[in-house]
Parts: sequence; structure tokens; C-alpha cells
Amino acid sequence: MTPVTEYTALVAGGGPAGLAAAILLATSGVKTALITPESRSDPRTIALMAPSIRLLEHIGLWPGALQDKTAPLKGLEIVDDTGNLVQAPRLTFAASEVGEDAFGWNLPLDLLIPALVARAAEAGVTTITARCQSARSDADTIAVTLDNGQTLSARVALAADGAHSVLRTAAGIAVDRWNYDQDAFVTSFSHTADHRCFSVETHKRHGAFTTVPLPGRASALVWMDRPARIKTIAALSDADLAAEIQAELHGSLGLVSNMGPRRAFAMRGMRPTVWAAKRTLLIGEAAHLFPPIGAQGLNMSLRDAAHAADLVAGSADPGADHVLKEYDDLRKGDLWLRQSAIGFMNTSLLAALAPLDLARVAGLSLVRMLPPVREWIMREGLAPDASLPYAMRKRA
Ligand SMILES: Cc1cc2nc3c(=O)[nH]c(=O)nc-3n(C[C@H](O)[C@H](O)[C@H](O)COP(=O)(O)OP(=O)(O)OC[C@H]3O[C@@H](n4cnc5c(N)ncnc54)[C@H](O)[C@@H]3O)c2cc1C
Repeated sequence: MTPVTEYTALVAGGGPAGLAAAILLATSGVKTALITPESRSDPRTIALMAPSIRLLEHIGLWPGALQDKTAPLKGLEIVDDTGNLVQAPRLTFAASEVGEDAFGWNLPLDLLIPALVARAAEAGVTTITARCQSARSDADTIAVTLDNGQTLSARVALAADGAHSVLRTAAGIAVDRWNYDQDAFVTSFSHTADHRCFSVETHKRHGAFTTVPLPGRASALVWMDRPARIKTIAALSDADLAAEIQAELHGSLGLVSNMGPRRAFAMRGMRPTVWAAKRTLLIGEAAHLFPPIGAQGLNMSLRDAAHAADLVAGSADPGADHVLKEYDDLRKGDLWLRQSAIGFMNTSLLAALAPLDLARVAGLSLVRMLPPVREWIMREGLAPDASLPYAMRKRA
């Protein structure tokens, strides 16, 4: 019979959400194993808002080497470049309006993930390089079988094993899924004009085209468009791609050059019918997918991780039904608000229907005209302090 190794918590998936959850658990004294295949390089940069940065601070990764290689997001702009007759006004949000130096920081995943891996080892997380294959729970434990033949058992499992989560399926959790007929192309580039530490989200006819500041005169790009257009863009030479980006920017960042690595992602939506079942809590993209508008994805995933860690560390039986129910209650409202707003914004660009366009223009105009609405949006974008897990709260 295969020997079973016992832990209090198992975390499946060594993406940023799983790594953060494992570190938070281990630093709270929870015996934790992280099961993950080797990570591969990812050219994305992620705009992490102030609460996520406080989580990095809480686990000892901020400030320091990470901060030195990233750029602050001092402001955000939304620009209408749909070419419609009725255009939304340009919206500018400055962090100083809500008393912050920056809304957050833009971190390359290729820097963040190695830093989290090193911190997990220091914190005492046992990392096993393998894939989860199946799981079975009973009244007291969950047993997870890996593709190396090992079986691990624990009181609770955190499924951070991505959009095709094996542990979510094993827990019998169904998801609603939908497609956007759109891809996102990511890369980075140098430019001659100053980005002023502002991220600019330009709404085009087939999706958002977003630049996010990197240190110096460089920016990351997330370009959403129909899959056929993204396929064409992705095949361009560096020089042609630079020219195409410069044209899409109408020259606002000056001359574009020095293209970075590229990758395209299919745009999908997904939400779970319930966030936890059978001693399993869903974290990150195992629970939700939405288009990268407003930089919400990983910020939400880190809130999942930190809320789950609070509940697991504070419960005598962290896989008990009442803990699963509390987690479900905590997470579903947070997801619903953001996914609905982002989904509406994206669909209004894709559908090109006059009523949807008018609703988007009216909504953005209201935000511009009403200062309390602007402030509410900025605070919601950061996530209100009262609803935050312990690791993300402001310290006095
Ligand atoms: C183009 C783009 C731009 C984005 N920009 C932003 C942004 O600016 N700000 C923001 O907040 N969010 C952003 N996001 C969202 C963000 O990238 C995701 O929310 C985040 O990467 C999800 O992390 P994760 O750890 O949940 O999942 P993943 O990174 O997918 O990690 C899943 C992990 O599980 C592992 N795994 C898979 N199967 C198994 C198995 N069977 N057993 C064990 N392990 C397994 C995988 O190897 C991987 O390590 C963006 C997303 C996209 C597509």
C-alpha cells in the first residue's frame, strides 16, 4: 500500500495565488505542502494594487529587490478610441485623490514567482514537484493522489491549480463558463516619451488596449482584439510590431522599439457555482476567469488566498462544512461585482450595439461628473479595507 504523508493543508498549484496561500499558511504555523509542476516563464506583468502590495509586505517581500525592479502606478486613464459618433469622456484617476502615493505597482511575473518560491522554502512549505491526479475526502481528511504515485492527506486542500483544476472537479464543483471571441496579446516595449507612471486603458472597437508602466521609458502592453487580428499581430517582425503599436497609440508614447517576449491568451469567463466543497477551497483561476480590464484578476486571487489562509489558520477543523460555507459567503460577493462590471465593459466593446455603447458612454460620463462616484470606484478598485483579509489590511 502507498504510504500516506500527513499535513494540515495541501495547496495544489504553484502559480502566484497558490504560492501566496502556502506562504501565508506556513507563516501562521500550519503544516503545509505545495504540489506543483515546474513553473514556466510568463511574459505578463501584473498590476498589483495597494492591498496586494501589503500582502507582499506582510510576507517579507516588500519593499526590497522586487520594488527596485518595478514601477509605481500613480494614475490610471481610460480613453475612448472606438471611433463611435458618441464618445465617452477621457477619465483620469490619480492615486493622490484618495490619499495614496500609488494605486499599486506593476510586477513582471518572471520576478514575482521566483521571489514567492524562495519565500515559500524559507517559510517551511514542503514543495513537491508533481501534478495532482485525483482526490477523495471523508469526514475528517482529504487524500490527494499525485502523478508520481504519492498520496498525501490533510484536513483541507486549497485548489489553486488553475482554470482546469483537478481538485475542483474532484470536489464535484461545477462552473459556469463563457467565451468572448477575443484574445489578449501581451508584450513589453521601450518608448521615447515619459509614461508619467500612468497606466492607460484605451477602449477600441474590439477590446481594451492597455499600457502599464515599467521602470524608465518602458511599458507592458495588454492588447485585446478578435483572435484573427491577434494571430496576425503575433506573427509580425519586431520592427513591424513596434510600428503597429506606435500607430495604435497615436504616438502618445513617442517612438516604440525594443520589443520584449510575446504571448497570447484566449479570453474566457468562468465562475464557480460554489467556492468550496468536500474539504476543498477554490483559489485564483481555479475559481474565476475574466478579461484583464481594470487589473483585477490576480488582485482578487490574492484576496482568495489570504481569506482562505485566515480561515484555515483560525479553525480547529479547517475542512469542516461551516468553514467552507464561510469562505463561500466571503468570496462570492467580491467576484460578482467585479466580474459583472468587467464583463459589461468588455461586451459593450465587442458587441458594437448602439444601446450597449450608449450605456457605457453614459456610465463613464457619470463617473467623470460625480466626484463621490469617482472616489467609490477608486476605493472599490483597491478593495475596501473592512472587507480585506488580515494580511492585506492597513496597519496603524
Ligand atoms: C493577459 C493577462 C493580463 C493580466 N493582467 C493582470 C493584472 O494586471 N493584474 C491582475 O491582478 N491580474 C491580471 N491578470 C490575471 C492574473 O494573471 C491571474 O489571475 C493569475 O495569474 C492567476 O494565478 P493563479 O495562481 O490562480 O493561476 P495560474 O497562474 O494559472 O497557476 C496555476 C498553477 O497550477 C499548476 N497546476 C496545473 N494543473 C495542476 C495539477 N493537476 N496539480 C498541481 N498543480 C497544477 C500550474 O502549473 C500553475 O503553476 C491577467 C491575466 C491575463 C490573461
